[in-house]
Amino acid sequence: MDVLAIGAHPDDCELLMGGTLAKLAERGYRVAVADLTRGECGSRGTPEMRSAEAAEAARILGLTKRIALDLGDSRIGLDPGHRLELVRLIRAERPTLIFSHGPDERHPDHRRACQLVREACFFANVAGFDTGQERFGPAALIEFVGGTLAAPPTPSFVVPINETIEKKMAAMRAYKSQFYNPEFEGPETRLSRKGFDQFIESVARFWGTLIGENYGEAFVMRGIPAIEDPVAHFREKAGKGI
Ligand SMILES: [Zn+2]
Repeated sequence: MDVLAIGAHPDDCELLMGGTLAKLAERGYRVAVADLTRGECGSRGTPEMRSAEAAEAARILGLTKRIALDLGDSRIGLDPGHRLELVRLIRAERPTLIFSHGPDERHPDHRRACQLVREACFFANVAGFDTGQERFGPAALIEFVGGTLAAPPTPSFVVPINETIEKKMAAMRAYKSQFYNPEFEGPETRLSRKGFDQFIESVARFWGTLIGENYGEAFVMRGIPAIEDPVAHFREKAGKGI
């Protein structure tokens, strides 16, 4: 696998990096999303509904694979078996890049997912951590940056998503039980209120403005990435100005 995005709940990866996932899939990369839970503690929709919605969103984004783990909504990381399950997943998929949550997100599941994924990335590359699989370490663990942080971190980089913003928004709308939908009866949540889609679009516009593009998605990398060949690395940007 080229890319493995790991979200706490079905719909997290769509909201936080749907445009980037669609863009990488369009470029021919093998892109997978793993949902750590089935979202059974959500205020709206059943796990069955959310699973059908996740499948439709995966189709829209062009994902190679969608993996549904069942670590337990609101219980992520509380069971020592969770780390083992994630190490198994990383060693099975062997992704070049892993994307997941940052440490300061609002939802406790997201914060614990961040910690769990960090630990699993570390132990996946430790031979003594025995799962019967070959050890494997991804090239990088990258955090997505949400739009609901009081003080969002400065991104390490922003991916322009001008061409795939529509796919991102369509993938989000595939979650008919979660977002604004007058035909769905259920308690109103922060996500389901009218105008949330405009909020998500505004966040993408904001990150886009930082790089002189219409839309973008922001990411953080811990540590300093080594760039072996700065010319090749920045060549795509040549002629666009600084
Ligand atoms: Zn979530």
